[in-house]
Amino acid sequence: MREGNLADRLFLLRERIVGACARSGRDPASVRLLPVTKGFPADTVREAIALGLQEFGENRVQEAEGKIPSVEPRPRWHLVGHLQSNKAKRAAQLFDVIHSIDSDAIAAEVSRRAVQADRRIACLVEVNTSGDRDKFGAAPDRALELLQAAGRLEGIELQGLMTIGPLEGGPEGARRAFQSLARIRREAAGAGLLTEDADLSMGMSDDFEIAIEEGATIVRVGTALFGSRPGAAGPGTGSRVL
Ligand SMILES: *Cc1c(COP(=O)(O)O)cnc(C)c1O
Repeated sequence: MREGNLADRLFLLRERIVGACARSGRDPASVRLLPVTKGFPADTVREAIALGLQEFGENRVQEAEGKIPSVEPRPRWHLVGHLQSNKAKRAAQLFDVIHSIDSDAIAAEVSRRAVQADRRIACLVEVNTSGDRDKFGAAPDRALELLQAAGRLEGIELQGLMTIGPLEGGPEGARRAFQSLARIRREAAGAGLLTEDADLSMGMSDDFEIAIEEGATIVRVGTALFGSRPGAAGPGTGSRVL
């Protein structure tokens, strides 16, 4: 599907990130690229590490469980997909960052399991900024309460907010969702729950440039970097199967 090899695609992706930063007057160093390797084998991760990438996102604990221990030396691993409480124990052992804290219950369970594993896990609160019914994430008007509850828990280090752009609504819909997450960060900073520059994990292959223009500090990119996922049904499918 994509032309060129991984090194070429990485180069082009970085150019697009730099371009979006230039358009919005941002320092490219303030945007981290998080390559999402779901659907790709450990060899793809190793190839990306050889190009200097040091952190990776996975969206399912079960898939990551096979991949993470087989990649040495260990990069930083981020869980970007929904977490069920019966997987929290494994997630707390495997991941360094969890982007999908979407309820008080999962925050409490991650905390409990992190303490048991004697780890501190960086966490982001996921917000459903689009209102899509099949999406996970706290409602925007509940996000501050969830931040407050999660921020009190041991074993969790709150680092910011995450959202997934809407399915419908095109670029303007995506922009509104990302603006909404940035607004919640401002409110949270005003309430002393996050810092002004806390992470905003937003933007995927189809909308990361808009996300950067609206303040993303982490963009989660799969297909634009690695090509279509093996087994995906065709162009454009798969990226929204979360
Ligand atoms: C798969 C996935 C991504 C990357 O999606 P692409 O469209 O392939 O860039 C980002 N975030 C989450 C939560 C994902 O599940």
